[in-house]
Amino acid sequence: MSVKDTGMFVHQMELVKTIYNGQYMKRTQKPQGVMLHYDESTSDKGALGWFEDPRCRVSYDRLVLDTGGYAILCPEDMAAYHAGTCRTSDPERLSYKSANQAFKGIAIAANNLETATIEQVLTVAMLTRLYFNEYNWPLTDLWRIKGHEDEAVYPEGTERAGRRGRKIDPTGPDKRKPVLSIGCIRYLVPRIQVPAKPAGSNIPNDRFGSRRYSAYWRSYIRLVSYRSDNDWHFVIENQPKTAPVKALSRWSVMPEHP
Ligand SMILES: [Zn+2]
Repeated sequence: MSVKDTGMFVHQMELVKTIYNGQYMKRTQKPQGVMLHYDESTSDKGALGWFEDPRCRVSYDRLVLDTGGYAILCPEDMAAYHAGTCRTSDPERLSYKSANQAFKGIAIAANNLETATIEQVLTVAMLTRLYFNEYNWPLTDLWRIKGHEDEAVYPEGTERAGRRGRKIDPTGPDKRKPVLSIGCIRYLVPRIQVPAKPAGSNIPNDRFGSRRYSAYWRSYIRLVSYRSDNDWHFVIENQPKTAPVKALSRWSVMPEHP
């Protein structure tokens, strides 16, 4: 258990790039949830470069960089190729044929030796929350937030067909030190404040947040403490916009793991 008061800060997520690589299909169903991933990249630059590479055969709806900036990789009326062969882990509430259609895909740029930066965690939570708002999912429906590891199975024709274990993201190889903790995102999504776009803004969602428009999604947060155990999470308090804000360019605290 580790407690630190970081003071007030504003977390602002910037849309740094939009890359449409064609690795998606027409969206035919309304999404039912959000699937979290890491992309196995070694750097933000490498991650962005890969999705522009003609050999790349995947995409995500959103890619979240170490800096907390994010890229849009799939048009809103398309379903990204992010999930592959899957079977629902929750047949009573989530039934689907195509996991690409059932889930919006959000990946952090990270590999299995890393831990998500705090900026990444907060941006993933904010983007997930924006989907909850957009699709009118109740904030108690945290079962809609799944990891790739929860749903992925081996495909037909392989030795382990239909069995789990095909993917380990976003938790990664060591549950005590998750690359991205699904529990942490489930904790943050109903708590994090994501104010609507300013009244009268007609900037579309896939442009909003870019430097060109200097209009950003912002959350005003006081990180009171964080706890690390088997499933670490943050404890946050949202603060009104009028409170003094200390802008943290880069967080120095990282979760400690026992
Ligand atoms: Zn994945």
